[in-house]
Amino acid sequence: MTVERVMPTAEARDLLELVRELIAKEVAPRAPGDESAGRFPREVFTTLGRAGLLGLPYPEEHGGAAQPYEVYLQVVEELAAGWLAVGLGLSVHTLSCFPVAAYGTGAQRAALLPEMLGGEWLGAYCLSEPQSGSDAAALVTRAVPDADGYVVDGVKAWITHGGVADFYTLMARTSDDGGRGISCFHVPAGTEGLSYGLPERKMGMRSSPTAQVRFDSVRLASDALLGAEGEGFRIAMAALDGGRLGIAACAVGVAQAALDAATGYAKERRQFGSRIADFQGIGFMLADMATQIAAARALYLDAARLRDAGRPYGTQAAMAKLFATDVCMKVTTDAVQVLGGYGYVEDFPVERYMREAKVLQIVEGTNQVQRVVISRALAR
Ligand SMILES: Cc1cc2nc3c(=O)[nH]c(=O)nc-3n(C[C@H](O)[C@H](O)[C@H](O)COP(=O)(O)OP(=O)(O)OC[C@H]3O[C@@H](n4cnc5c(N)ncnc54)[C@H](O)[C@@H]3O)c2cc1C
Repeated sequence: MTVERVMPTAEARDLLELVRELIAKEVAPRAPGDESAGRFPREVFTTLGRAGLLGLPYPEEHGGAAQPYEVYLQVVEELAAGWLAVGLGLSVHTLSCFPVAAYGTGAQRAALLPEMLGGEWLGAYCLSEPQSGSDAAALVTRAVPDADGYVVDGVKAWITHGGVADFYTLMARTSDDGGRGISCFHVPAGTEGLSYGLPERKMGMRSSPTAQVRFDSVRLASDALLGAEGEGFRIAMAALDGGRLGIAACAVGVAQAALDAATGYAKERRQFGSRIADFQGIGFMLADMATQIAAARALYLDAARLRDAGRPYGTQAAMAKLFATDVCMKVTTDAVQVLGGYGYVEDFPVERYMREAKVLQIVEGTNQVQRVVISRALAR
């Protein structure tokens, strides 16, 4: 089903049309085969870059498209419905560009953003470590100042695009002062001392490589530092507020794709002489799925509009991520149920959607962590 969208401008409507065409021609048809083979579709990201989609919410001055977050997220949603590895890849790339765009000096923005936003470079965001996931402020990767910059040692874990990215946005410790001792750095791929683990063997989203990124005496020039020394944790959390909305949009996209597949199937499949869509047990399930998806979409759009208006939106982003990803898990599980045995095999896409949904409840702050964020805001 084509989702009815109210876009804020004619330009945004044209953009949506372009995105839908691109997904139908270049993204969705490749998803099943590449997911089975675990193949990373780098050329799809090149195509997205050439279409101007890798810098949507950033200023035009350095190659962005200056679109409101509300528009950017709906593009992410549509892409994720076509192929989560691509929708989530765009979201992670956009997150990885944020520290340069929001905290970089004029010289850093001029030097780095054109390639980042123009599609030449694909980004990765290095916060998690083997021993620090939810407790990100406990990270131990260290950037030690030396005469003309820093020397970095440590291991980052679970990094989306690890080994295939063109740059790594790194959070590393520059002092022992807890969260206040963390700084943010730009690290180009190919820097000496950078190496990668083998891609993790994941339950789903196998076309999106997730790997350890290792820093072994990696020398960075002083202008690799983004923002002030010690400001890295604040930058990382600000980036994650926007990133969580990207994950919420991905979740709505995957859930919508599952609903569409389940509805199409229920209208064709006959048992006991009737279409299964006409059994109330199935029809009510589809009705609940559609209602939850609409509510999740409204929640992420509401948070995006707060962000676009320059208002605080971190709590609403946590709510949107929590709700949309739980909805996605429920809807994709129900979609498998609607297809019965056919839902459990690879001939239909719903088993893939269900496997993809699970990771969205984990990344960019687990759904327990989102509840911590929301409950702390309530208790303040
Ligand atoms: C496919 C994939 C891609 C990823 N991509 C990236 C990436 O690009 N960059 C990056 O930096 N990281 C990435 N991650 C890491 C991801 O953000 C972490 O897995 C996540 O933050 C959870 O950390 P953890 O796995 O160490 O779990 P833990 O933090 O060890 O949590 C284990 C369990 O304890 C719960 N828990 C922890 N603390 C609390 C608490 N205070 N209250 C209640 N429950 C709690 C958690 O919810 C979870 O259920 C990725 C992970 C995956 C699986």
